[in-house]
Order: sequence, then structure tokens, then C-alpha cells
Amino acid sequence: MNNLVNKMDENMKWLKRENEVLGSGMRLPFFPLVIKEAKGEFIYDYDGNKWIDFLSSACVTNTGHAHPVIIDRMKEQMDQLVHYNPAYASHENLIALSEELIRITPGNFSKKVTYGLSGSDANDTAIKLARSYTRKSKILAFSRSYHGNTYGALSASAVSLPMRQNMGPLLPDIYHIPFPDIYRPQFKTDNESERCIAAIKHILETVCPPEEIAAIIIEPIQGDSGVIVPQQAFIDELKQLCNEHGILIIADEVQTGFGRTGKWFASEHFQLEPDLTVMGKAIASGMPLSAVVGRSEIMTSWQPPAGAFSLAANPISCVASRATIEVIETENLTKRAQELGSYIKNRFRYFQERFGVIGDIRGEGLMLGIDLVGSQVSKEPNHSYAAKICWSCWEKGLFLTFFSGSVLRIAPPLTIKEEYLEQALQILEESFEDVTAGRVPDSVLDEIKGW
Ligand code: PMP
Repeated sequence: MNNLVNKMDENMKWLKRENEVLGSGMRLPFFPLVIKEAKGEFIYDYDGNKWIDFLSSACVTNTGHAHPVIIDRMKEQMDQLVHYNPAYASHENLIALSEELIRITPGNFSKKVTYGLSGSDANDTAIKLARSYTRKSKILAFSRSYHGNTYGALSASAVSLPMRQNMGPLLPDIYHIPFPDIYRPQFKTDNESERCIAAIKHILETVCPPEEIAAIIIEPIQGDSGVIVPQQAFIDELKQLCNEHGILIIADEVQTGFGRTGKWFASEHFQLEPDLTVMGKAIASGMPLSAVVGRSEIMTSWQPPAGAFSLAANPISCVASRATIEVIETENLTKRAQELGSYIKNRFRYFQERFGVIGDIRGEGLMLGIDLVGSQVSKEPNHSYAAKICWSCWEKGLFLTFFSGSVLRIAPPLTIKEEYLEQALQILEESFEDVTAGRVPDSVLDEIKGW
């Protein structure tokens, strides 16, 4: 396939200007891309280039970019009411959306909702709610988790040093416990889940008194650590530990939610009914909105303005979220995510046989991680190969990134048409051929560093 990406002149002009004005913490070093337009499964730049989007704005645009149903509803709403601070007045879409969120979240018990603007602030809210309800302060969080960049979420996160460096004291009373990684077991045995549970119990016996723990916060499938799927047995043991000690379970479904893994929420893969479910990203197809849905008694355990944000539950965001739920249901996108996900996994199994660099293929639905290694036996992460594959795909018209150093992130919109999925997989195969044959120079590694 010929290179679809030709020139980058206009992009570069914009980025030069941006370089003068934008701080350094916002953007991960991948591609010199300035997006002009995005529709469906495509993104477009200022130089007439077009890419198939395999990132979906990092699992934000599950319904594809600018889904017409969602856009129409937003436009109608814009003419009626742009916003009113929800601390002072309600609006119909806040109420109707809350009913919908309660309906789709796991947990067959009485629930209520509260709103924010980002996954990070929603995780802070969940931590605060757990503390205020239980009157306990300690929180357990997992190794390699990503919960966000506000202080609470950051304190719970453990995926990357740059997030935490030089931040001064983080939130106290957060303890990190091991998350099982079957492919690269931390305990170097084949009973990783059991060993992690044993390590957690050891922490409860020696450093963190269980009766002082308010909650445990978990990504049911870890995202940014490279798509790590726990075993059912691990989740079962964890539930039992929490039951035993009256510890609440907070599921951070910010990345896994809204159909991404082939279910509404990833907790459903494990029959997990979290006390609090945290959602963001895809909740409103790109409009700023986050929510915590939880047991009524927890959600009513604090007093205003403890949970108030002036810009939360914006009517246009709420309308976008209601339309997102409708689109996911009418277009059967959870089922579609499952079907396309298994299809992609099969294609990668073929690549795995053909090219010796694929160590592991994992994930659920359309949240997949392809772990690239130096050797399938020694499993050492192959950063340069991952970076080169992504660069080669970029040059051929596929927007693909990697995380955790060496894991290709496969997360197209759930609406991606088969024809373009096929085209993307074709580009990927050619990129594997090119990188294997040494046709992608080392110099690209200076451009695409990833994270
Ligand atoms: N939780 C998870 C699991 C996430 O993946 C992210 C974002 N990567 C966040 C929380 C933070 O969300 P936001 O960037 O919207 O604050």
C-alpha cells in the first residue's frame, strides 16, 4: 500500500505556534498531528491527510466521531439551554440521564448519581464518598493503575513516574497492592492471582488494618498499563476480602465503560457489582462529563456543596450522553464490539505466527492490547518495534498508538465499518512486514516516543 500521508506543512506550522504557548504536561509524544475534522472512523488534518482512527480519542468516541444522532440532539439542546449551575437548579436532561445511568450500571440495588467533568474528578468524588460514608480513611489501589491527574486520582494511580514526580505530598492513606499480570507475573509463578491475593492479605496483616479501609479502587480491566485482564478467581477472592472487612468496591470504568469491552461495563465480565461505578471518557461521546453511580446510602451520605461543580452535568453533555446510550443500544454496539474484537484477535494470532514479535494478545471487545516482545520466550518488551509499527501505520493512514512501552493499543470506534477495519488490518500487516524487513529507520524513534 502506498503511503497515504504526504505532506505535513500546515500541521507543522500550527505545531510551531503551539510550541510557543502550550505547557509540556498535556501531550504524549506520538505524532505531529493537528486535527481539523473527525467523522465516523476517520480523522483529518490541515494538509489533506486522512487516518482511520484506532485510538478513538483514547476510548472517548466509542460511537465514532460526530455521530449524526448525537450531533443533532446537541444542536437542538444548544438552542434551548446551554447551562445552569446544577448547585442551584435542575434540568430535565440531568434527571433523565441519571435514570438511564442507573438502569445500565451493574448492581441490582437502589442507586443514585452525581456528576463531574472528567474521569479524574469522578475518581476523587468516589474516594471522598467512600470516606465520608464509611468514616474510614484508608484506600487500597492497584499497582500500575491509572485513575487520573487530580490529586486524589493521582494518589491512587501507579502507572507512571512522571505523573507523580515533584508533586509534593499526595493524598495520605492510600496503599498500593499488586494487580495480577498473567503474561508477566510479578511473582514469577503460574499462580499469579493467588500470589497477589496472598500479598494483599499480608499487607492487611502487617501495614494496613482492614477495619480502617474505606474502599478499594479497581479498573476491572486495567487500561493504560497495557490492557491487563484479571482472572475471575482474583476478582472473586477480592470480593470476599471486601465482604469480610466491610470494604467498599469502587470500579473505575472510565476507560472500560460504555460498551468498549463488549458489555456496558467491564465489571459485568466478572459478575462484579461495585458499590460505586466511576464513568467518564465515552459517557457523552466527547463532551465533557463524568459521573459516579453508586448505592443510594453512600450517595446520600454527604451534604452540599461537597459534591458540587459549577460546570457539571452540562445540558449539552447530558443530551449527548443520553443519545450515546441510545446509539449504543439501537446499533447493538456492545455485541458489535465483541464480534469485531474476536475477529481482530484472530487476525493478530495469524500475525503472531508469522512475525515472532507478538508475545501476547489480550483484552475484551474493542479494548485490545498487542504486547510486542524481543523474543516470545524471554518476553522482554520491544519498545522500538512498537514505536516503528505505529510510525509505519501513521505513514500509511492508520492512527495507532502504544502504551506501557510496547503494547499496541487497539481501540477503534465500536461503529467502525468492516471495510475500514479490513483496511486497517491490511495496513498493520504491511507495517509488520516493513518493520521486520528493516524498512523503518531508527530515526523515527526520535519522533515517536510514546509512553
Ligand atoms: N480512569 C481511567 C481508567 C482512565 O483510563 C483515565 C484516563 N486515561 C482516567 C481515569 C482519567 O480520566 P480523565 O483523563 O478524563 O481525567
